[in-house]
Amino acid sequence: MEELLDALLRECQPYTAHGKVATYIPELAKGDPSDLGIYVLRSDGRHYQAGSYRKHFTIQSVVKPILLLLALLDNGEEVVRAKVGVEATGKPFDAINVTDSPLLSAHLNPMVNMGAIAICTLIHGSSYEERFQRLLNFTRQLAGNPEIDLDEAVYLSEKRTGSKNRALAFLLKSYGMLEDGVEEVLDCYFKACSIRVNSKDLANIAFVLANHGKALQSDEQLFPPEYARYVNAIMMTCGMYDGSGDFAIRVGIPAKSGVGGGIMGVVPTRMGVGIFAPALDEKGNSVAGIQVLERLSRRMYLSIF
Ligand code: GLU
Repeated sequence: MEELLDALLRECQPYTAHGKVATYIPELAKGDPSDLGIYVLRSDGRHYQAGSYRKHFTIQSVVKPILLLLALLDNGEEVVRAKVGVEATGKPFDAINVTDSPLLSAHLNPMVNMGAIAICTLIHGSSYEERFQRLLNFTRQLAGNPEIDLDEAVYLSEKRTGSKNRALAFLLKSYGMLEDGVEEVLDCYFKACSIRVNSKDLANIAFVLANHGKALQSDEQLFPPEYARYVNAIMMTCGMYDGSGDFAIRVGIPAKSGVGGGIMGVVPTRMGVGIFAPALDEKGNSVAGIQVLERLSRRMYLSIF
């Protein structure tokens, strides 16, 4: 397995030159496009790593499955589903997904921005700061890493420039789908996206989702198995934005990507995978990251199809 990861690193490194780091959040433009890190945690407890797996980056959209999990724990499936639907939008993550007819919860999806902003309102807490703290603590618990924290610079950068997300939140508000103030909800969303992690953290979180909600070390049930099924299914159909169909064919595992360059891959019952490679394709997915996962899946027969 060590040799396999080293080979994947060698083979996929050139692909980092085929993408570009995100620049629409100015702070993300400082990322090094040649970075590539891989971390794999297997159900026998062994872990394998290669490249820049220790390097920190912001979680960005990989927080969406975590937000969804916490919303499920706080409210149950019925309430969550009534607020945010589960159908793939087939559109970019920040699309203004509207037609002439009114916006409905069925048009939302927890893996795209509008749905994730709506999910923030479902997290319990007496203030949006408290909601974020609960999300941060939950992320630390899933990753087994109490040191995970907020990247203040990325948070402030996105808060200052996030006009598109403001537009999406106001749209939700105009259709009566956001009861609270746009700025306070967005503040929680921007902070959620700016949680700082590394590939190991993502692999650990993915592992819990692969292991039906159970942590590896403590054997503690962190969330019920049916929530793992719910979140994994949505990641499968729309975790890779509007590239999810192609990813399902090429890789065939539930996964979530983020514009910070992270990808979290869940191989049910077998392993959690965390990838970091911030050079992105035009859809916002890590180019080298997808190459690694495609090769890993082919060589280890990981596809669930
Ligand atoms: N914070 C980013 C945004 O809302 C997340 C996008 C992503 O990673 O897909 O634009």
